Amino acid sequence: MLEVEEAQQNILAAIESITCEQSVGIAQACNRVLAHDIVAKVNVPPADNSAMDGYAVNVYELTDGQSEFPVSQRIPAGAAPSPLKAGSAARIFTGSEIPQNANAVIMQENCEALDSERVRILKTPNIGENIRACGQDIKAEHTILTKGQRLKPQHIGLIASIGESEVSVRRKIKVALLSTGDELVEPGSPLKPGQIYNSNLPMLVSFLTMMGCEVIERTIVEDSYASTCQALESSAKDADLVISTGGVSVGEEDHVKEAVKALGELAVWKVRVKPGKPLAFGKIGNTAFLGLPGNPVSAFVTFILFASPLLKKLQGEKDTAPVSFYLPVNFAVSRAQTRPEYIRVRINNGKVEKFTNQSSGVLTSVCWAQALALIPSHKEMSVGDLVQVFPLDSFYI
Ligand code: AMP
Ligand code: MG
Repeated sequence: MLEVEEAQQNILAAIESITCEQSVGIAQACNRVLAHDIVAKVNVPPADNSAMDGYAVNVYELTDGQSEFPVSQRIPAGAAPSPLKAGSAARIFTGSEIPQNANAVIMQENCEALDSERVRILKTPNIGENIRACGQDIKAEHTILTKGQRLKPQHIGLIASIGESEVSVRRKIKVALLSTGDELVEPGSPLKPGQIYNSNLPMLVSFLTMMGCEVIERTIVEDSYASTCQALESSAKDADLVISTGGVSVGEEDHVKEAVKALGELAVWKVRVKPGKPLAFGKIGNTAFLGLPGNPVSAFVTFILFASPLLKKLQGEKDTAPVSFYLPVNFAVSRAQTRPEYIRVRINNGKVEKFTNQSSGVLTSVCWAQALALIPSHKEMSVGDLVQVFPLDSFYI
């Protein structure tokens, strides 16, 4: 049986990143992975501008004891200012460009407008005060984002701020999803005795969509060796990755492993982790295959632990390590376990609390949870002991 880290390493070692790229509009680029570094052609901001509503002045003129100035121009945001006339102040607003010869903005609370043409300065500013310098965010010719960056809303904003409307990203990974199980029914139809709704398939479609993948197939596969082989073989043809759920244990209704063995190679099949011990990874031709367990919580947790890093590598993402931190637990673990367990937890007042029912079939536990906490194997724990906490979002957002 492999440890989680060994299984993750084996999976990552067996696959290569997809290098194909495409150009997309920035509004469509969220969650895609950048194919090239982005170098700014411009400064951001493009010119010195005001951080306040107030008056732009030349501080050297104030040191002469002069505190009353004529207002020589009004500069609303978006206007191009004229150079500041000697011995005068300019009415200015947040975001307005600083006129030449001005070197500070006095906030309007520190001024007294005598009329629209004259202002009295009540407090002398320092040089540069309330001025956002040209290029203080981004300097022209600097690299703002590097290849392999997954683009989040803030990166899209940054790219827009340098005036680019398109970016080069890796092409979408094509994923085929298979749900095995004769008991499964698609939501929307009534259940007959013995049946349950297929919750894994829509859950995985949602994960994949959030991660910028293209789901090219969604199939329910009958619990038979022949159907499993046929479904795996046909879905592997056009996909970069096939993900299945269920049918991956060793029962006589579980055919996934045997089918993968017959069609390609099976590299990983047992991982020492709870939930999610039955797990399969292999290849069918050039297509990667990941077989997740059927229980919905196990499918969720193993997607996070194994599918997420696999997809990130396929997409060429550079930062794949999940975010984690250590916090004290508000519960005890009195019986040490043989497998490390990723439990569903919330953080309340800086303490980790767990959902009462940690069964692998209870999806409400994952909906309640903000994070997974890792309870190490062979370890009893007391209230206040530290556990490693992994926020759920960092795996797929
Ligand atoms: P299996 O791994 O096929 O033995 O399935 C383990 C458990 O997960 C069984 O209780 C299945 O009914 C359930 N299960 C399997 N696939 C799904 C699915 N797609 N949606 C909801 N439950 C499932
Ligand atoms: Mg099954």
